[in-house]
Amino acid sequence: NLVFVAKESVAEETRVAASVETVKKMRSLGFDVVIEAGAGGLSRIPDAEYEAAGARIGSIKDAKAADVVLKVRRPTSKEISGYKNGAIVIAIMDPYGNEAALAEMARRGLTSFAMELMPRITRAQSMDVLSSQANLAGYQAVIEAAAVYDRALPMMMTAAGTVPAAKVFVMGAGVAGLQAIATARRLGAQVSATDVRPAAKEQVASLGAKFIAVEDEEFKAAETAGGYAKEMSKEYQAKQAALVADHIAKQDIVITTALIPGRPAPRLVGRDMLKAMRPGAVAVDLAVERGGNIEGAEYGKVAEVEGVRVVGYPNMSGRIAASASALYAKNLVTFLETMVDKDTKSLGLNRADELIKATMLTDDGEVVHPNFVDPDQ
Ligand code: NAD
Repeated sequence: NLVFVAKESVAEETRVAASVETVKKMRSLGFDVVIEAGAGGLSRIPDAEYEAAGARIGSIKDAKAADVVLKVRRPTSKEISGYKNGAIVIAIMDPYGNEAALAEMARRGLTSFAMELMPRITRAQSMDVLSSQANLAGYQAVIEAAAVYDRALPMMMTAAGTVPAAKVFVMGAGVAGLQAIATARRLGAQVSATDVRPAAKEQVASLGAKFIAVEDEEFKAAETAGGYAKEMSKEYQAKQAALVADHIAKQDIVITTALIPGRPAPRLVGRDMLKAMRPGAVAVDLAVERGGNIEGAEYGKVAEVEGVRVVGYPNMSGRIAASASALYAKNLVTFLETMVDKDTKSLGLNRADELIKATMLTDDGEVVHPNFVDPDQ
């Protein structure tokens, strides 16, 4: 069986879907591995290192023979036109709102999987790309904020006087937010955080940050069975905004990470709140790709909004591409391993497996995932 690891065609994608370690792993699982020349360049993995690990360096033409195509992003129309009918394609597929692209993958006969739909259960933890990438994004968000901020983060007592610790407020305390809290704490900032899920309260406190939230009845019921946030009512959002407005006026750095699965990101910080922040304040919007938590955040830019510099970089984990690729590639190969028979080393899908069912978008010419099946058909 042949695995093809594609070079990403979107200019801003710095990551790659295989590492030296995962090439070795795929070889041991019985795969021949072809890496598209230069695929690892931006993640600092030279072709020669892949070769030394047992891969062959090839070109996009090699995709035609591949039984499995590994990518970071969903392949474009042009890319899939070069894949063979029946190929397994695994990537971060960004399926919501992209139904036409899913239909096209189905028409091309691809069996495609969206890594971000992996269930968050113990068995699948090592395949959880949302967590592996969000963790790095949370770290990097603090690094980007610190780079833009014109003051020091830790308190510094020097012979020339004292520099106060920066006040950092993290909004959304999921995987990214918790890592942002930990990173800001390591840099010596004074950290507070908010979330709408009650479970976040203890996690925030255990990292040594102060928890700020409207803890009413709705808050106590705000977590779904899957551990995700619900979209909050208008009334809750108004109460939350009032509390946050007060708190944010005293902050130097705000990092927002709030997402709701399958919905646009909630708007948490308005212009009025930015205006009330201290001179020199910095904000980082990690939700910018999903519409943004911060009013005025601009995709791919550091925008000046009401005197606050708002960082709106997409693909934050891709800004530490070498680390992000290492973890992403490991997530992928662990999933791929579930499709290989250990004894015969043959590739076969168990369509009854809950991981396969949860992530499979298209199969045998059809869109098969229940969230994306067209109800009119
Ligand atoms: P996410 O990326 O969907 O959202 C980020 C955070 O934003 C969440 O904590 C969410 O509650 C919060 N949020 C949403 N609306 C908000 C609002 N209006 N105001 C403030 N905050 C808001 O979530 P995630 O980081 O992927 O994680 C969600 C949960 O799943 C976490 O509890 C996480 O620890 C848990 N998780 C479990 C596993 C596992 O069991 N294997 C793996 C990963 C994550």
